[in-house]
Amino acid sequence: MAENTTFFDIIIIGGGAAGFFSAVNAARLSTMKKVAILEKTTKVLAKVSVSGGGRCNVTHACFENRDLVKFYPRGGKELRGAFSRFSVDQTIEWFRARGVELKTESDGRMFPISDRSETIVNCLLSEANKYNVEILLQKELQKIEKIDDKFILSINETEKFACNKLIIAAGGNSKSSAYDFLLKMGHNIIPPVPSLFTFNIPGNPITELMGVSVEKATVKIEETTIETEGPLLITHWGMSGPAILKSSAWGARALAERNYDFFALINWLHNRREDDVFEELKSSKTIYNAQLIVNVNPFHLVKRLWQFLLFKNGLDNELRWADLSNKQLRNMAHLLVFDRYHVIGKTTFKEEFVTCGGVTLNEIDFKTMESRKVKGLHFAGEILDIDGVTGGFNFQAAWTTGWLAACGSIESTLKMEELK
Ligand SMILES: Cc1cc2nc3c(=O)[nH]c(=O)nc-3n(C[C@H](O)[C@H](O)[C@H](O)COP(=O)(O)OP(=O)(O)OC[C@H]3O[C@@H](n4cnc5c(N)ncnc54)[C@H](O)[C@@H]3O)c2cc1C
Repeated sequence: MAENTTFFDIIIIGGGAAGFFSAVNAARLSTMKKVAILEKTTKVLAKVSVSGGGRCNVTHACFENRDLVKFYPRGGKELRGAFSRFSVDQTIEWFRARGVELKTESDGRMFPISDRSETIVNCLLSEANKYNVEILLQKELQKIEKIDDKFILSINETEKFACNKLIIAAGGNSKSSAYDFLLKMGHNIIPPVPSLFTFNIPGNPITELMGVSVEKATVKIEETTIETEGPLLITHWGMSGPAILKSSAWGARALAERNYDFFALINWLHNRREDDVFEELKSSKTIYNAQLIVNVNPFHLVKRLWQFLLFKNGLDNELRWADLSNKQLRNMAHLLVFDRYHVIGKTTFKEEFVTCGGVTLNEIDFKTMESRKVKGLHFAGEILDIDGVTGGFNFQAAWTTGWLAACGSIESTLKMEELK
């Protein structure tokens, strides 16, 4: 080995959630091994620090793996087996064993009881310190070579590292070129595109209703099979909220192919059917007869939204229920369940985004996260073609794949007591 080459048993590329989880567990479960993290920036765990609005949404209280996998537009099938080895229960237990209690919010998201992401950052840093993980900053991996059974990692012309086992946890990246060093190792990369964004609806008067939300709406993307439901929020640039974010995740690739220019159909009444809504409007006409349509809103929509939809349908505020013709009621029913918006462009949601795309999953053994192409090379986290919707699912994938890569790289299998 050349003089300027530093050797470790295991090297982890990337000091994010997946990299740290791999590193601290590998170091802890095999104390004889020298473990290092190479991080290209000057700061580790940067995303964990800012995650969940500074509170870190560590995981989600979903304890059935067959349900958990449904929150991953990409990777759900492969994660099924991985979750059977390390899932939400184990994440909670792992942090609890290190003095970090998690709490569950009404929507299932789990946060540290401190409500501070620092708690998670400090926990991971303290584990790294306890098990002598070397954290080397400003070490951007440029090139990997495999010579005999060792990996030689080049940072620049002169600085090199060598290791027996290599874990790549370099995160997602919207630039394809960020994955070049893996192409050279023979891996295929699914082209990266962003996931988790809100919809821009420029110039549409709906944006005047900014701040209005609907508890349960359905969003369909025209000419696709994408259909999601959940709370929907109107913003000053368009639409946001869980129903929209889910559409952006499931539709990440289809919407990128359309250059973010497409039509969204909103059912303001969740999953009600047009014919049923029409019948309900007809009954409302009989019941509310002499009352102004603007004052009686049979579906309990926010008043501003109801007024907006009446206006959009050309119905004057002065009209009474008795004045409405069947045709007008039919049109109203249609608008309530198929309200169509031209989306042009996207906006990042609270700076929180993930990458759809990355290392092709059928090239990985999900028991050990080892490459099927290069022995001793493992992967963890968002670098893989895995991403979830918001709610703690992306970190859960990082903890699970990080754990399996750690066990795989030291050739150990999970035992519950090892979580302690
Ligand atoms: C603002 C924000 C908030 C989020 N909040 C949540 C949340 O609350 N809950 C949730 O589940 N998910 C959340 N996510 C998603 C979640 O943060 C990511 O899915 C997760 O951090 C992925 O972990 P990772 O370790 O794979 O990648 P990263 O956290 O991106 O870490 C990768 C690391 O590798 C380094 N690196 C990259 N290339 C190289 C190289 N060549 N050499 C050396 N180092 C390299 C990077 O600098 C980085 O430090 C959030 C994302 C963002 C952006």
